[in-house]
Amino acid sequence: MKSQDNCIFCKIVAGQIPSNKLFEDDELLAFHDIHPKAPVHFLLIPKTHVDSLADCGPGEGDVLARIMLKVPELARQAGCDNGFRTVINTGPDGGQEVYHLHVHVLGGPREQWKAPAP
Ligand code: AMP
Ligand code: ZN
Repeated sequence: MKSQDNCIFCKIVAGQIPSNKLFEDDELLAFHDIHPKAPVHFLLIPKTHVDSLADCGPGEGDVLARIMLKVPELARQAGCDNGFRTVINTGPDGGQEVYHLHVHVLGGPREQWKAPAP
């Protein structure tokens, strides 16, 4: 489904659906994934709706940079001392299920990860 009006992550941003937040500022929100695939698994999203990475243009350059610079900071705070994985599923063949751009951040001991990781 591609509808900003019925977007679950926009509803999380608006506080209409609860989430377990790690971080929030004027542009970004990070919250724990509801079905974690690793001991640490959170999502970092722009508060402004954009369907996917494939729908980003120059206008999203600043927020994309902010997201990518925020990832290591939040990963460190979440205890990913030994590395982490970032995943951006994009489009049907990319396995994207929620059409509001999001970066998965996964970490923790690898033997504790569930397969398949996102
Ligand atoms: P993707 O396949 O990249 O679109 O992944 C979407 C992710 O959003 C999945 O890992 C879901 O577990 C996660 N997710 C869906 N609904 C929620 C929610 N209400 N709160 C937190 N995570 C969610
Ligand atoms: Zn949205």
